[in-house]
Amino acid sequence: MVNAPFAFSYQALPMRVVMGVRALDRLADEIDRAGLKRVMVLCSPGQRELAETVAGLAGARVADIHPHARVHVPAASAAAARRRAQEVNADGCLAVGGGSAIGLGKIVALRHGLPVIAVPTTYAGSEMTPVWGLTENGVKRTGRDPRVLPVSVLYDPALTVSLPAGVSATSGMNAIAHAVEALYAPDASPIIDLMAEEGVRALAGALPDVVADGAGLDARSRAQYGAWLCGACLGATTMSLHHKLCHALGGALDLPHAPTHAVVLPHALAYNQGAAPKAVAALGRALGASGDPAAHLWDLAGRLGAPRSLRELGMAQDDIDRIVAITLANPYANPRPVTADGLGRLLHAAWSGRPPAR
Ligand code: NAD
Repeated sequence: MVNAPFAFSYQALPMRVVMGVRALDRLADEIDRAGLKRVMVLCSPGQRELAETVAGLAGARVADIHPHARVHVPAASAAAARRRAQEVNADGCLAVGGGSAIGLGKIVALRHGLPVIAVPTTYAGSEMTPVWGLTENGVKRTGRDPRVLPVSVLYDPALTVSLPAGVSATSGMNAIAHAVEALYAPDASPIIDLMAEEGVRALAGALPDVVADGAGLDARSRAQYGAWLCGACLGATTMSLHHKLCHALGGALDLPHAPTHAVVLPHALAYNQGAAPKAVAALGRALGASGDPAAHLWDLAGRLGAPRSLRELGMAQDDIDRIVAITLANPYANPRPVTADGLGRLLHAAWSGRPPAR
């Protein structure tokens, strides 16, 4: 059923996606298509072997492998990657890994204009966004620039079979969070609504199978398809309370990125549900659970074995007030007004691991 009237603005991003089992066979063609001759491969230290395998498929088009990506792109690691790109005369980057490797590629793209080709191996979604991040003196700055959007993204589920069950679960919840907030974003649009609903449906359906059998390519494919859609939602809309809270928790307390998203999401959604009926309806359809999708996501996190309290991520209860203050310091769009009281209650529930408030 179509709900008129429509009122929205929508800017499509120039993204190119190659998805499927053996998508990586197309890597050399994609590099050639982008006109690149000497790419620098970027990855996290733990993913060097995987990056070497991928680099092998690109042959002489690889100028170097730089296995020094760090979470939240510290300024020193960004500077080292930029120096290395100049030393080896790279004309582009091939980022193999999660948001850390792709985030490093984005900074090289921002400062030197080198295009990025991304081969994502988590579900975080950075490859689908023009958003860059850089951490300096303990403060993470972010910005939007079309130059950092990868020119080509290859999603091959075979690269995700080594992602441990725990990381798969939290990374998948991180992706679902993008779609949830896109559904009530101030710049939501009908096409993004469709992508968000389908992305949540695909991921919520796939993740229990991924956690049960990480080697199953069918479930890995469905999860990656969902992650692509959810990442595209993140790239196209403005995020609200959930992402601001996670940003504050990660920045001020150094809590781990994806697990923090997994814990906070049901609580942030519960906070907003009463003010976002269209999002609740879409999530109800996607999750096969009408009425209270926040409770459903909390149950899902439990079934996936994902953390459900900030306490278990290392946060001290005394830090709640500080996070409330940081989250309130800069205003942002949110379907329900964000108050100190409301935030405090939300964070106490998320900290202790209680189910989200109804
Ligand atoms: P990550 O890239 O740090 O990866 C998490 C861990 O998983 C790492 O230790 C990595 O080595 C490991 N890993 C990755 N792929 C693997 C595989 N296939 N098998 C085994 N281990 C694997 O974490 P992430 O959650 O993907 O990304 C988080 C970062 O990305 C944060 O800095 C976040 O802010 C950023 N991010 C940015 C955007 C954006 O739009 N700019 C979007 C989402 C996330």
